[in-house]
Amino acid sequence: MNPIRVTILGASGPYPGSDDLPSVIVCYGRTRLLLDAGEGTQHRAHEAGFSVASIRYILITHMHGDHVLGLLPLLQSRSLSGAETEVTIIGPEGIRNYLIENFKLLHFKPRFDVTVIELKGDDELRLSNDMTVYAVGLDHGIDTYGYVLRFGSKKTLAYITDTRPIPNKLSGIVEEPDVLIHDATLLSSDSELALEYKHSTAAEAAFVAKEIKAKMLLLFHISQRYRHDYGDHLREARKIFRYAWIAEKFMRIMIK
Ligand SMILES: [Zn+2]
Ligand SMILES: [Zn+2]
Repeated sequence: MNPIRVTILGASGPYPGSDDLPSVIVCYGRTRLLLDAGEGTQHRAHEAGFSVASIRYILITHMHGDHVLGLLPLLQSRSLSGAETEVTIIGPEGIRNYLIENFKLLHFKPRFDVTVIELKGDDELRLSNDMTVYAVGLDHGIDTYGYVLRFGSKKTLAYITDTRPIPNKLSGIVEEPDVLIHDATLLSSDSELALEYKHSTAAEAAFVAKEIKAKMLLLFHISQRYRHDYGDHLREARKIFRYAWIAEKFMRIMIK
């Protein structure tokens, strides 16, 4: 089986202007798949050594700017670079109109085919012979999907953001993922904000990881309000789940 290479292109949120907004690139064999496309994604992909022309699938969790504002410039660069290979974009309802209207207003016609799949609820999609994605409806106040990627028969990557913790639902869908990337926007001391804005705390992410027996947890989408020190997130999570790390820009993980 091919190894799965996961590279974090951005891991914080939600304020615009940051060079660390959510995006993760997954390489499996020759397939390149992008999870979210926050502002500036194409620059960081380039910096990390990836050509945007190589991206085949783009999975968007939800229509908040910090997850989607990098999508159009990425598609424009891909087209200007001469890429002609098809792209499939999967996301919540609204993404098709967002693309169609922007293409029209910007007088932009991609050189390649763009297939858009709008999710209407939890769904499993087969991307290739040995790669599937299960879209899981999350709890974030607007239509939001987490993605559970399965490679071959055994390897699993779960990308669960932005959301309140939903351990019961997830445990029916994913068991022992090799890597769980989970919303850990806030600390428990700010849990009223987590409730108000429908995000998770580091402790809640750790609890989910424990419940679904993840092999590794990456604390993701940490608010820029803590940017000077993420140590408290790590300490808080590790009290509950030992195998927790902070997701950092340009971090690379190999699943094999
Ligand atoms: Zn966000
Ligand atoms: Zn959001």
